[in-house]
Amino acid sequence: MPRKKTSKITISSKKTEEKFKKPPQLLRGMKDILPDIQDVWDFTKAEVDHLAQDYGYARIDTPLLEETSLFARSVGENTDIVEKEMFSFIDKGGDHISLRPEGTAGIARAYIEHGMLNQPQPVRLYYWGPFFRYDRPQAGRYRQFYQFGFEAIGDEQPIIDAQLIVVCFSLYKKIGVPVVIQINSVGCKTCRKEYEQLLIDYLNPRKKFLCEDCKRRIQKNTLRILDCKNPECRELMQDAPQIVDHLDEECKDHFVKVLEYLDEAEVAYNLNPYLVRGLDYYTRTTFEIYPEGKENDSQATLGGGGRYDDLIELLGGRPTPACGFASGVERLILNIKEKEIIIPTAPKPDVFVAQLGESAKKKALKLVEELRQKKIKVASNFSKDGLKNQLSLASKLGVKISLILGQKEILDRTVLIRDMESGSQEVVDFNRVYEELKKKMEKTQPIIQNNHRIGG
Ligand code: AMP
Repeated sequence: MPRKKTSKITISSKKTEEKFKKPPQLLRGMKDILPDIQDVWDFTKAEVDHLAQDYGYARIDTPLLEETSLFARSVGENTDIVEKEMFSFIDKGGDHISLRPEGTAGIARAYIEHGMLNQPQPVRLYYWGPFFRYDRPQAGRYRQFYQFGFEAIGDEQPIIDAQLIVVCFSLYKKIGVPVVIQINSVGCKTCRKEYEQLLIDYLNPRKKFLCEDCKRRIQKNTLRILDCKNPECRELMQDAPQIVDHLDEECKDHFVKVLEYLDEAEVAYNLNPYLVRGLDYYTRTTFEIYPEGKENDSQATLGGGGRYDDLIELLGGRPTPACGFASGVERLILNIKEKEIIIPTAPKPDVFVAQLGESAKKKALKLVEELRQKKIKVASNFSKDGLKNQLSLASKLGVKISLILGQKEILDRTVLIRDMESGSQEVVDFNRVYEELKKKMEKTQPIIQNNHRIGG
């Protein structure tokens, strides 16, 4: 097969030349996750991992890049995500590809491609990773952001929807961010079609009151008008027919059962007839997750989800009902900070190894390695030469014991063990450092876990 023509990257444009004169900067809407916040990320991820294990969800990682058509077919060609927000490009082989804007489409593709239909159903999968949308950056809205999500594929029963909602409800509760669920049903393709026509009939004579986006949506994406945030559109929609009044018997029955299960599980929810979500693949149950007290702030949603009973078939698989939810990590972390939630921190080092002089440095390097291999958590800083500097760093790190190696210790084949609280020092034989250190550690280490408060 002849190779497709590749385009060469040039860096000679005026704009790029200008940029080369300045230090490089983050792209708009992107964010570094710096070391000082990593413990909150680790904590959040560990909670998600534990919950997934508890409920039998297996981890899946799909690629960051997929064919653009996957998202156009699943999320929907006329949605904001596909129309305006995808990072799409043609690769060197001429293929149209996009950075994933959400997780469900890739998982549906993987379910079909790996024949997961042959596994016991429902197949329960969860994910955690970066996603990309060319959104207008603002607080809590980035162009690269993280989501975790849970998907239960291959079961149509309403208890599956309810259990998924219970899963995310308990996750937030456990983390310490209580949430309220907003819930609606968008019906199936049959009853939704009839409802859409009713909505079109209601909107057409009132078109002039709609915003420009919604005027276009009447024909292309009617349901989205329901959750437009424009005040005039909102007012107009207050008297519009509501989808829950036009569900067919099966969809109504499904919805009622989901709500009954949620009542039983004591999950707090509000019915929201305007909730349709911005993705085309949803059928029947749709829901969004709001921090308690921020239920009316559409910018505060932590996540959302629902059923997508037609998606797998639409992508070429066998008809397979499914349900899932996705949650934004940055938004969750924002709430963890606001609530000043106490999270466990990484354990402090057991000991600091300080050195003075070239030969002590060599010996200390070896000692650090030996102690580390014996599972002692060792801190050191070989870029600092002064003893005072090193010991003050040890104090900052909260280390209780320091080992000091200087010229004299090298000659005597000894080490100084310093109690950082009292300042008392003891000389020990180099070969007995480990034993003496262990003894001291048993005396000084409190048997409690470290915690720290985030934010505030
Ligand atoms: P969606 O996939 O649009 O339903 O979004 C689910 C959740 O992902 C939202 O409730 C947010 O918490 C998060 N999210 C979506 N888009 C962004 C973004 N651009 N920046 C940060 N978080 C986002």
